Amino acid sequence: MRLEYTERQNKFRTEIREWLADNVPKQPLQSFDTEEGFRQHRDWEHKLNSGRWSAVTWPEPLGGRGVDLIEWLIFEEEYWRAHAPLRVNQNGIFLLAPTLMEYGTEEQKQRFLPRMAAGDDIWAQGWSEPGAGSDMAAIRCKAIREGDHYVINGQKTWSTRAVWADWLFGLFRSEPDSVRHHGLTFVLLPLNLPGITIRPIKQLNGLPGFAEIFFDNVRVPVENRMGEEGQGWNVAMATAGFERGLMLRSPGRFQQTARSLVELYKAEGEKIDDCSLRDAVVKSWMDAEAYTLSTYATAARLRKGEHIGPEASTNKIFWSELDLSMHEAAMRLLGPRAELLDTAPDAGNVGHWLEGFLFAQAGPIYAGSNEIQRNIIAERMLGLPRS
Ligand SMILES: Cc1cc2nc3c(=O)[nH]c(=O)nc-3n(C[C@H](O)[C@H](O)[C@H](O)COP(=O)(O)OP(=O)(O)OC[C@H]3O[C@@H](n4cnc5c(N)ncnc54)[C@H](O)[C@@H]3O)c2cc1C
Repeated sequence: MRLEYTERQNKFRTEIREWLADNVPKQPLQSFDTEEGFRQHRDWEHKLNSGRWSAVTWPEPLGGRGVDLIEWLIFEEEYWRAHAPLRVNQNGIFLLAPTLMEYGTEEQKQRFLPRMAAGDDIWAQGWSEPGAGSDMAAIRCKAIREGDHYVINGQKTWSTRAVWADWLFGLFRSEPDSVRHHGLTFVLLPLNLPGITIRPIKQLNGLPGFAEIFFDNVRVPVENRMGEEGQGWNVAMATAGFERGLMLRSPGRFQQTARSLVELYKAEGEKIDDCSLRDAVVKSWMDAEAYTLSTYATAARLRKGEHIGPEASTNKIFWSELDLSMHEAAMRLLGPRAELLDTAPDAGNVGHWLEGFLFAQAGPIYAGSNEIQRNIIAERMLGLPRS
């Protein structure tokens, strides 16, 4: 496969590259899992939006540039190459927004998307519950209709960035006697409503990257429902497809990690007499390139109007295992220095590898665990029997 870009695409690449060179903060922002870091990242979203770079694939009236998925991939390549800040609103922009475009009403699109693009509303995802993680159809948190409101009672958990986020999109059981994926409704709600309690959960690095959310008679207007009442499962599956398939983890991210790993090998590898490490670095780089090409092929298919389907699961396994193996190779290269935190005096410029290594552990779990993705591949792609 040989990639060739059009003149328009090359011009687009130059434009974003120049904008990033002028605007990416010279000092890295604090982690968005701290209050101050969250604020800094929100400001960065404002800035991106001021250049109309925050959601390039969206239509122009909604704050985007109306570009296609190939240009989005170019944008992402440049974004990661420039070491630009992580996207604090990724759940909104990359997961909820495409779902809103497909299932939202015109009024909902106008109401939510421009504020999302500007970073005015940062979104968290509310699917998992105690007892409903991999088995999402076991959701018990209720949203029962009373006139023109849903009344929500129950609990969500593992909600990324919900500690400081403004809004939540989630799946709730609206028919109390329903089972499994029937009787669920997709609801959008502000996290400051009366009756909501948010309890932070620490991640491996000690920061409160997630939260548990408790709902006690929380009243949400019916117009905050997305899709039909009781049909939320189908809406959520579209979101999950975006999450696993394409938008959440673009290849630019892994290409940048692979490039950094090659640089690390050049700096450290000479001192290490272990050719398996050199193989691991080369394989990482090749896999990142393979993932890139495969994503371009998927983007080209989607551009023709095709849907991503269960092969989103193969993608999710590939990128999460690639991220893990790249960080494992870096840890091996760094030896005892691998355990230095970013803040340690001797960490120099390698402390970020530990942070990345810790986060990479989560890749095979979030967005649907890799075991579940393998079940999907077995049943829906290979037609193997259940059990
Ligand atoms: C970094 C991170 C961010 C997250 N962010 C969010 C978020 O924003 N919003 C949200 O709602 N959730 C979020 N989650 C939660 C995530 O979706 C769940 O952790 C995941 O779905 C697994 O559910 P669980 O933790 O309840 O584990 P369980 O479902 O209890 O699974 C435990 C283990 O059993 C395996 N297993 C379970 N069932 C099967 C089966 N049928 N076949 C084979 N193996 C099986 C799983 O693969 C796993 O290894 C996040 C998780 C992480 C790690």
